[in-house]
Amino acid sequence: MMPIRKILLAALCLLLLLGLEYLGCFEGMNNYFYDLAFRFRGPERPLDKILIAAVDEKTLDRLGPWPLKRTCYASLLEKMKPSGIVAFDILLSEPSPLDPLLAEAMKKGPPVVLPILINEDLMIEHPARALSAFPAGHVHVERGIDGVAREVHHTLYFQGRLLPSFASMVHELAGGRSLSRGAHPPEPEDEKTIFQENLMRINYAGGPGTIPRVSVCDVVQGAYPEDHFRGRIVLVGITAMGLVDSVTTPYAETRMGMSGVEVQANIVNNLLLGNEIRVVSLAASWLIGVPVALLLYGLFFRMTEGSCLLLLIAAVMIYSLLTLLAFFVWHVWNPPAATMLSFLVLLTLAYLLKLHAAAESLGATYAAIRPHLRNAGGKDEPGYGREGIAGLLTPRGIQRQALSLHGIAHQLIFEKELSDRILLSDIFGVAVFDPDGRLMLANGDIHRLCAENEIFLNARDRFLSDLAGHVLEKEASEPAFEQWLQMGAITVFLDRPERRYLKVDVSLLPVAEKAYSLFLLTDITQVKEVELLKGQIVSIVSHELRTPMANIQGFSELLAGSLEGDLKQYAGIVLEESERLTKFVNTFLDINRLEEGRERMEKTPVSVPDLVRKARVKMQPASKGKGIELLAEVPADMAPVLLDRDVTEQVLLNLIENALKYSPPNRPVILRVAEGPDSVIIEVADKGYGIRDEDRDRIFDKFYRANVAGAETVKGSGLGLAFVKRAVEAQGGRVIVRSVFGKGSTFSLVFPRAVRPEM
Ligand code: ADP
Repeated sequence: MMPIRKILLAALCLLLLLGLEYLGCFEGMNNYFYDLAFRFRGPERPLDKILIAAVDEKTLDRLGPWPLKRTCYASLLEKMKPSGIVAFDILLSEPSPLDPLLAEAMKKGPPVVLPILINEDLMIEHPARALSAFPAGHVHVERGIDGVAREVHHTLYFQGRLLPSFASMVHELAGGRSLSRGAHPPEPEDEKTIFQENLMRINYAGGPGTIPRVSVCDVVQGAYPEDHFRGRIVLVGITAMGLVDSVTTPYAETRMGMSGVEVQANIVNNLLLGNEIRVVSLAASWLIGVPVALLLYGLFFRMTEGSCLLLLIAAVMIYSLLTLLAFFVWHVWNPPAATMLSFLVLLTLAYLLKLHAAAESLGATYAAIRPHLRNAGGKDEPGYGREGIAGLLTPRGIQRQALSLHGIAHQLIFEKELSDRILLSDIFGVAVFDPDGRLMLANGDIHRLCAENEIFLNARDRFLSDLAGHVLEKEASEPAFEQWLQMGAITVFLDRPERRYLKVDVSLLPVAEKAYSLFLLTDITQVKEVELLKGQIVSIVSHELRTPMANIQGFSELLAGSLEGDLKQYAGIVLEESERLTKFVNTFLDINRLEEGRERMEKTPVSVPDLVRKARVKMQPASKGKGIELLAEVPADMAPVLLDRDVTEQVLLNLIENALKYSPPNRPVILRVAEGPDSVIIEVADKGYGIRDEDRDRIFDKFYRANVAGAETVKGSGLGLAFVKRAVEAQGGRVIVRSVFGKGSTFSLVFPRAVRPEM
């Protein structure tokens, strides 16, 4: 946002606050702070020469009931003769026959000041006629709306008369500078209008009792020497409970009021010391406050929210301390409420503007992302544009933001899933269909391929049924999507524009509770061709090698039978090696057939115990030759299992041969047959060299041979176990190896007993 707008908004807020302060909206708050400042400051020592002579309960007890006789006041004056001024805050308006006597005493005694009052009927109550020659002043103080007396007007004009304040009269008599009062009182509009001038804020020295006082009766009865009053200003007034009109002051936090005479004594004290409270004008106060507020406002934009809050607290505290300092030291009061409020308002404004900017940038980010989204919703989707703060602060706005984020999130999940799958695959073509089966996304290769081979690509089910005509797997020729999905990968052969084998990976892409169908095509033409070549080689080996090997074997057997001496031995070696080679070739061809699924299992009901016993008999010579005992723990009889007898026997022979090969002499090999609830288990256990953990899975790989100390000279091709695994799995069984290296191995064959054949 333009800085000028920020400044304009701040100015508007400040103007609003200024207007409110001008209308007096913060007066209550300021008064509260003002009274608090007094209480924080505590009492201040008043002038020693100010004294209160109190008409208290004791005086009424001893000198008679209220009103006191004029003679009491006369003798009071007599006793306080040396005092500088005696000011009566007692209305002597009721005429009395003793007035002349009192007037006489007043003339003889120290200068006196008498009170004047404008009563509730708007009548001026003067001292009685006989006393009217003495200076008099009004005793009114200004009370705020909360009833607290904080101010006094030293000049009133009422009914064409100038009424100076009581305290200002005392002050002037005491030789203080007289106040400048208007020479001509303003013309009254009517009899009821009171004009006020010379406003002063009372700086109370403290709560009730701060100004020293004596009891009138003590004075009258001579309890004080005359010298006690020498040169002092004595204010005579009522403090007796019930008679006194109590005044609430800033110190009245306990609701304990102050007597009128003490308030007057405080005002006199202020006038004599010149320490009344001066209030900073509205203009000056704002001149101080506004630059500070604007400085803070500028800082708020550069700081984090937490720091802003700390800064605000610091600013309010420093401002309060300075306000108090000015109050305590210079008796200057700067009403702080509006200024401190302006700090808060500007902080809020800065926060809202920052929020607005953030919200706008959110909207702009979304608007920038939107064109890149593949399925960002229809054109009627609300424009998540530059809504700003309105888009964040209303539930509807937040809802819309959430919705837009939701949309982006789903889109991103979709894109990520898609790209993951494509990146992880060796991809040739890709096609994605939406949950309704319409084409959503396809690359150029697949478009071309489909066009060349007349495969319809725009709808999933048509695509499937067109593709089904080219698949190699029989199960996938029925174009049901679920079936293809279950198979995961299907191979298709297409002959345009060239012969090509393609693997089609079919999967679902779940995004936001909807499923997209994903087809990934990989070109496997080369692999397929190598497979074909391998098949050809295998067939050549099987035909070209097997017949000569059979001849070599036959003739070497003949030769070994007819030759003598060394030659017989050589012929024996040729026979042995040719047997090994024949076995190798046969196993290799068997494995190939198993891998290609060409080796058809001829399953017949087989008695497993018989099969194992037969294998044991066959391997007996070899085990004896090695000095190994071949034991069989086999049940006498067992229900037969459907197995390919020859293949299973070969598997067993391979395992027994291994157990003999990889055991040192004199360690028995045990054959076991056990029956589970749904399976038959054949175990070949030895106590030989064992297999390391890291070799356990690899020993079933073709040509893999583990390197074990003690078995280095053992001959082998690494094909035996490869055949075992494939042959067992081709019959639906499993091979499990348990082995402790150095202690021995156990190979278990687990055959399911799917259907128990009736015998
Ligand atoms: P090989 O012709 O080498 O015996 P196999 O496929 O039969 O080939 O076995 C692969 C490897 O597994 C062997 O080289 C041997 O290291 C390990 N092996 C097989 N059977 C056993 C066994 N009973 N005890 C220890 N090691 C064995």
